[in-house]
Amino acid sequence: MATIFSKIIAGEIPSYRIHEDERYFAFLDINPLAEGHTLVIPKVETDYLFDLEDDLLAGMTVFAKKVALAIDQVMVCKRVGVAVLGLEVPHAHIHLIPINNLHDIEFSRPKLKFSEEEFRATAAKISAAIQ
Ligand code: 5GP
Repeated sequence: MATIFSKIIAGEIPSYRIHEDERYFAFLDINPLAEGHTLVIPKVETDYLFDLEDDLLAGMTVFAKKVALAIDQVMVCKRVGVAVLGLEVPHAHIHLIPINNLHDIEFSRPKLKFSEEEFRATAAKISAAIQ
């Protein structure tokens, strides 16, 4: 059965899309730790990030860098934190999270709520900053 992320790539489930190319897709996490919390995924469905073939994994890092630099530009943050968990969705993904301190990237924290309009505006802002 297709993962929820494959359904997002296929447009069967809506998402706040930020960027994509032929191999990767970036969109806002629906339960974010921070405004601009983004997920980067390969379009090929593989559960575990480190099961990805070398070239696909290396390319995903370069794609994530592009998105992270855009987040850096438009979000108020010291850094873009990077995390890989994969405990909830069995489709490899990298979390990109704008952070100002250690606390900002604690996954046990309550997640933030944003309106549809706010999510849309954040995605558009990051997307427009992609070089
Ligand atoms: P992990 O698998 O890394 O533990 O967590 C999966 C992440 O995917 C969570 O941060 C969760 O909020 C996010 N997520 C789960 N389902 C959806 C969804 O349908 N849409 C979006 N945009 N994010 C999701």
